[in-house]
Amino acid sequence: MGLLDAAVTRHNVLVTSVDNVLNWARLSSLWPMGFGLACCAIEMMATNASNYDLERFGIFPRSSPRQSDLMIVAGTVTMKMAERVIRLYEQMPEPRYVLSMGSCSNCGGPYQDHGYHVLKGVDRVIPVDVYVPGCPPRPEALIGGLMKVQELIRMEQIGVSRADALKKLAEHAQDPRFIVERERKAARA
Ligand code: SF4
Repeated sequence: MGLLDAAVTRHNVLVTSVDNVLNWARLSSLWPMGFGLACCAIEMMATNASNYDLERFGIFPRSSPRQSDLMIVAGTVTMKMAERVIRLYEQMPEPRYVLSMGSCSNCGGPYQDHGYHVLKGVDRVIPVDVYVPGCPPRPEALIGGLMKVQELIRMEQIGVSRADALKKLAEHAQDPRFIVERERKAARA
């Protein structure tokens, strides 16, 4: 408010680009969807609690994908749950971001070799913007990842759409549900 007070009451002029204003507003009010998939979610909940005070960054969990612009995939993505993750992602409005938290979500983690029921990385079905390593990552690591998401938003430009990321995914994989089905079949074989 100090900035606005100075601009309004002392008749100062602020000169910046529309990109900067929009990006500043969006990165200062990131609303992650509040859901967790496994043990990593415990650390995510701890990060949301008062000790780490995420609200000082404007980060405030929401209970509906329709009100969220960030999905934190915290935990093991099983084949069954992968379809729900896709559905939730599709329900989020653009622009939207995905942070993959922990080894399971990044690459299958401890289920990498023998977990027939686990997707080997959530980026096989939805585009991921930031990966946070660890099993589980500590709250400080998650906060570091959230800062990275903010950096991404800070670099965005009007007219350069996030559809580029989706296009890249589409190049590799047709329909994401098809991938889940394919992985299931491979695990059964
Ligand atoms: S990465 Fe580790 S802590 Fe996180 S969900 Fe997987 S097994 Fe649990």
